[in-house]
Amino acid sequence: MPIPLLDLKQQYATIRDEVLRVTGEVYDSQYFILGPRVDAFERDFAAYCQSRHSVAVSSGTDALLIALMVLGVGPGDEVIVPAYSFFATAGVVDRLGATPVFADIDLADYNLDPKQIETRITSCTKAIMPVHLYGQCAAMDEINRIAAKHNLAVVEDAAQAVGSEYGGRRAGVLGTMAAFSFFPSKNLGAFGDAGAVTCEDDATYEKLIDFRVHGMRPKYYHRYVGGNFRIDALQAAILHVKLPHLEGWTEGRRKNAERYAELFADANLDGRIVLPRELTGRRHIYNQYIIRFADGGTRDGVMNHLKSAGIGCEVYYPLTLPQQECFTDVPSAGDPFPNSDLAAATTLAIPVFPELTKDQMAEVVREIGKALDETRNQKPETRT
Ligand SMILES: *Cc1c(COP(=O)(O)O)cnc(C)c1O
Repeated sequence: MPIPLLDLKQQYATIRDEVLRVTGEVYDSQYFILGPRVDAFERDFAAYCQSRHSVAVSSGTDALLIALMVLGVGPGDEVIVPAYSFFATAGVVDRLGATPVFADIDLADYNLDPKQIETRITSCTKAIMPVHLYGQCAAMDEINRIAAKHNLAVVEDAAQAVGSEYGGRRAGVLGTMAAFSFFPSKNLGAFGDAGAVTCEDDATYEKLIDFRVHGMRPKYYHRYVGGNFRIDALQAAILHVKLPHLEGWTEGRRKNAERYAELFADANLDGRIVLPRELTGRRHIYNQYIIRFADGGTRDGVMNHLKSAGIGCEVYYPLTLPQQECFTDVPSAGDPFPNSDLAAATTLAIPVFPELTKDQMAEVVREIGKALDETRNQKPETRT
């Protein structure tokens, strides 16, 4: 039986009745944009994130974009972002006419390395945008200390990190604002595109509310140029149904990560594979379970083997952000980012979704072991 990277149908089967009931209510009400269902979801989502406010929006990308718009980021400004992330992290900076300034990551958590930040700060720097990649928070104490010293805003890209914790505090309260994605493959997924911004500050919250509807307050009076960043009532209703299940799903992923650690230890693949590590004081929510190989040849060989064995796996991400064609003209894109390059060339995501069975996980590990033996036999010269 094939093992997918993610199987949302199993999860849906457990909440199907509830989802059909609330979506039926939305259809009957014919009330589709913002409104009480969005308010109710925002209240509970803010509580889940331990934050004072949340503003639900049209996508995770729009959550990042609106956060930067509220900060007034624009032409001439610089925002420091990790060189290794999903495209949107740097894309939103560029779209506002500002310049993304890339900084290398730490391979311990694949997140922005605080030691790489300070040399990149100039008089144009407006914000630092750490990403909690794969579901583990970045080194927020160090990043916030640097931001405070230089009077910079911190926007958490928490798209993959709903429920992730740092020093007992949740993603969403670790910076000035945080952006979440409810893309279906994220731990809390909508039935389409959706996202949210969290913040503590009341004035920031009011601005987010205004920017979501073209900078408008009251109706047809525009103080700012915002956009249409509204979430559908339908998506909010579905997310509201799913939210109480999120902790259980996250615990399922965490248990699976523990089980992988045992299975890989038993498989004796020492030195040939690096497993994800939950760092002290952090709670990893394993939106992705990322393993790293000795070199790119090994990674691609294992990936091909797994795919032909029917095991879902994926490279997140094959290129670093500075390697993207559209960023060729970004000044920092020519700098060396050795850790980001290594991550892009040697990492692989394997299935970790909560419904995965013990047997399936054992099969994944067995096939990776087989693949490693195959690639070793084929290309002994590439071993390091
Ligand atoms: C998913 C993701 C986004 C974008 O979210 P969308 O909802 O797809 O727009 C941004 N940053 C990171 C790190 C992501 O993983």
